[in-house]
Amino acid sequence: MKTVYVDNNATTRVAPEVVEAMLPYFSEFYGNPSSMHFFGGQVQKKVNEARERVADFLGAEPSEIVFTSCGTESDNTAILGTLDSYPEKRHFITSRVEHPAVMNVASHLSRKGYRTTGISVDREGRLDLDELKESIADETALVSIMYANNETGVLFPIEEVGEIVKSSGIPFHTDGVQAAGKIPLNMKKSTVDLFSLSGHKLHAPKGVGVLYVRKGTKFSPFMIGGHQEKGRRGGTENVPYIIGLGKACELAKKHLEDENTRVKSLRDYLEVKIFEKIPNTLVNGDRKSRLPNTLSVSFEYVEGESILLLLSDLGICASSGSACTSGSLEPSHVLRAMGVPFTAAHGSIRFSLSIYNTKEEMDYIIEHLPPIIQRLRDISPFWKDYLKSQGKR
Ligand code: PLP
Repeated sequence: MKTVYVDNNATTRVAPEVVEAMLPYFSEFYGNPSSMHFFGGQVQKKVNEARERVADFLGAEPSEIVFTSCGTESDNTAILGTLDSYPEKRHFITSRVEHPAVMNVASHLSRKGYRTTGISVDREGRLDLDELKESIADETALVSIMYANNETGVLFPIEEVGEIVKSSGIPFHTDGVQAAGKIPLNMKKSTVDLFSLSGHKLHAPKGVGVLYVRKGTKFSPFMIGGHQEKGRRGGTENVPYIIGLGKACELAKKHLEDENTRVKSLRDYLEVKIFEKIPNTLVNGDRKSRLPNTLSVSFEYVEGESILLLLSDLGICASSGSACTSGSLEPSHVLRAMGVPFTAAHGSIRFSLSIYNTKEEMDYIIEHLPPIIQRLRDISPFWKDYLKSQGKR
């Protein structure tokens, strides 16, 4: 069966160049980078080269890059590590639409007696900056606001957020997992102190991530152990994956223009054609400030899960809400926070593209999606009620 993979916000294909770059580090160069002998030393040198590539991609200094195991670890380290550095401050601010890697840390902190604030978003998924300003207090230890939403692709005005946070002298973390590789980033010109990145969202393997820590930012390690990563993250380095991530960042820098031109126009083409062919469809999220690869659409009066299964039977891999919430029939916390009506939130599908997608694949989706929606609406009592209310049946 043909596979059309449009679930790149869940995970991406490992680039062939990345696989190639990693392979020698499983077989030939298997030394421990901490070893004193030449065999470990040569690996350490390559880990440092990968660090330079990641730093170059983020517009950072190599010394500001800490390798982790995933985006979740980077988020946990940024939040729990910062709070550990400011034990007298017991207030944490985030948004209501974060990934569980931040959201569930906030819940954990609430259970531990911290005061936590979740900043609201509007119907378009835009952050309420006034609420953010009002929420900042003397006891605020950290503000963590995501760069780009994994479900809707909405981009928050991170530098504006950073200005607000930094003017109160508070550290600022952003979960940049969905932004990295999709929009230009430059930490040297940014207000961000801590930035999380995950390898498997940008064509590196699952199991490697990065936490950028601005020089001078107070930091305490989350993974306590050896002296690796200058004492900022214990544990022997995952050398092949770090090498792979270095290569993936080099490629992502090269492909950024393609992502923002060709991939964006494929996404726009898909959106326009869906609107043309399927009535009662809405886009979730601010179309003026959105990742170039993401399209979250709601088909009113149908179940997203049923759409997904029928698409999957045809080899089309998309997602309903975020991969982490699919399987549950509750509308996602993101769509609920945005106030998407129940009849639309249930029928929401996320298409997320990558540089490997083609126009033929978009046409394949456009050919098969309208009959699927029609078939599901034909058996939906909500759709029948809607038609009746419109005097159409
Ligand atoms: N943050 C965001 C915005 C994400 O989309 C994800 C993964 O979907 C994560 C964090 C977690 O990253 P990882 O899967 O590498 O732990």
